[in-house]
Amino acid sequence: MNLIEGRKVSKEILLKLKDQVSGLINKHIHPKLAVILVGQNPASLSYIRQKQKACSDTGIEWEQFDYDEEVTTEQLASKVHSLNEDPDIHGILVQLPLPKNVYAPEVLKAIEPKKDVDGFTAYNLGKMFLSTEFEHLTPCTPMGVIQLLEYYKVPIKGQEVVVVGHSNIVGKPLATMLLNRDATVTVCHVHTKDLASHTKRADILCVAVGKANLITAEMVKEGAVVIDIGVNRIKGADGKEKLVGDCDFENVSKKAGMITPVPGGVGPMTVACLMENTVKSAKRLNNLT
Ligand code: NAP
Repeated sequence: MNLIEGRKVSKEILLKLKDQVSGLINKHIHPKLAVILVGQNPASLSYIRQKQKACSDTGIEWEQFDYDEEVTTEQLASKVHSLNEDPDIHGILVQLPLPKNVYAPEVLKAIEPKKDVDGFTAYNLGKMFLSTEFEHLTPCTPMGVIQLLEYYKVPIKGQEVVVVGHSNIVGKPLATMLLNRDATVTVCHVHTKDLASHTKRADILCVAVGKANLITAEMVKEGAVVIDIGVNRIKGADGKEKLVGDCDFENVSKKAGMITPVPGGVGPMTVACLMENTVKSAKRLNNLT
């Protein structure tokens, strides 16, 4: 088994971005990310810290707008509209999940597609549907997975790829991006009748569900590349909380040819791709690409 070291790859990406940000600052363009956070969800706070650190590592400016859970859809959409108009802001990120009283699609819809660094607007998702050439601001987690596969020279074209999970932010866009690269893609979800019959065929198995130990060694083909995207907080044997993915890592890693660890696999790549998107947006908004 070989580990796919997302943390290492993400550091290389951030280092390259730091140079690009310096170059932009020399041209009096300071890439800046605006972040909207609602409430104090512990997972969201942890993601926000990681993203803020990556901004500070690369030199991207960070401005955070905090709201309490009583905020309305209209108030958030109005904030997004004002950030759309602000020439100093190059990327807008609305940290998900939003509380139940807010209609998230309406808030995301308000984001100007050129500043949509999470790649969640219908415009950017729709463009991505056409081909790799139109993948401009793509959702960060799927992009992180693609970059990991490319970095480790895992062939995608013609491979049997199984994606477990079909959310709009991970599973579906990942399946589309793999299809754009000529993989034969099967997408599984909660209604899939015999999950193992699909996962066992996969040359590349990508799992984004949010259920610890969903994927056991018996469900994985010998030598497969396993990309574990899930993040689950569970209690370890010592009673302390720990992060695990959706795969039974100890046993799946003995059978897989390559596997991403959790933490340290896809997570840091998601953050690195967010930084990439912010730099891309800053360049494009200043007509540099
Ligand atoms: P989500 O919106 O809850 O989607 C989960 C998906 O899994 C849904 O498509 C669901 O199907 C499917 N599913 C649920 N139970 C299943 C089962 N028993 N068998 C097969 N499929 C099942 O979650 P998400 O936002 O896509 O995130 C998925 C996981 O990835 C979470 O653990 C999240 O924390 C993690 N994540 C990690 C990163 C990262 O950077 N590492 C980024 C984003 C998300 P239905 O919709 O039909 O119920």
